[in-house]
Amino acid sequence: MKDYLVRGLVNSKNCRVFACQTTNLLEKARQEHDLWPTASAALGRMMSATLMMAAMNKNNEKMTVTINGGGPIGTMMAVTRGDGHIKGFVGDPHVHYTYNDTGHLAVGVAVGTQGTLQVIRDMGLKEPFCGTVPLQTGEIGDDFSYYFMASEQTPSVVSVGVLVDETNEILSSGGFIIQLLPEATEEDISYIEEKIKDFPAVSSLIHEGKTPEEILKMIFDDVEITDRQDLFFTCDCSREKMINALSTIGKQELQSMIDEDHGCEITCQFCNTKYQFSEEELQNLINRL
Ligand SMILES: [Zn+2]
Repeated sequence: MKDYLVRGLVNSKNCRVFACQTTNLLEKARQEHDLWPTASAALGRMMSATLMMAAMNKNNEKMTVTINGGGPIGTMMAVTRGDGHIKGFVGDPHVHYTYNDTGHLAVGVAVGTQGTLQVIRDMGLKEPFCGTVPLQTGEIGDDFSYYFMASEQTPSVVSVGVLVDETNEILSSGGFIIQLLPEATEEDISYIEEKIKDFPAVSSLIHEGKTPEEILKMIFDDVEITDRQDLFFTCDCSREKMINALSTIGKQELQSMIDEDHGCEITCQFCNTKYQFSEEELQNLINRL
């Protein structure tokens, strides 16, 4: 089944909802970054939440989410333009921790809790919007939920999950978000709390073949789906962009790359594509600056 995201409204409960399936795009990320299971779970949860958050905005603004909790996974980043395409990476893809009691992937241990979740939204204005909140558990879903409350004053339920098999392949990935509208009542809130309390893990539901729409219908039987968007893991890097990046490091640095390394190689951190630049190309770049 293709990866996609749906957006919807539940008028009877005064909330808006989002749900997505990201299994294939996470599998592509896993192969490109050689992610071990806990790293897969962390990046998958983060990309699902980021894609749903980007779907909350009407225009295709660029959204960059960065999480660093001081844990062994290091800095994690996900970038999307709200067009269904996302790219992302983690500092150390080779982390694997499980909780002793449940055997579940220990995302909170890998990510850590001594740090922040930062969201930068570039709407093409002079100053991009930037919101930063302290991490709560490092389990990603809780951290996004806290972000919506603290930074956007929107009470939200965020559920994101990933299942990995014993060969490290991605079995399922996705999630849902429920956001209360300002007119929500106490009854609406208790209805949602009651429904969510013993709700099955979203990764298990996706693995069983439930679609994003079906998962939302398990919570609200009268959900009205308003939009659907296909999702992809793609990188927009190019040789030209890498040359632009090189031109910002200064003539001196470029000259030392020629003298000491006789050229240079740049690896895109989002997709691991390697770009080689010869001595001659670097010299041309210096001449142009
Ligand atoms: Zn790339």
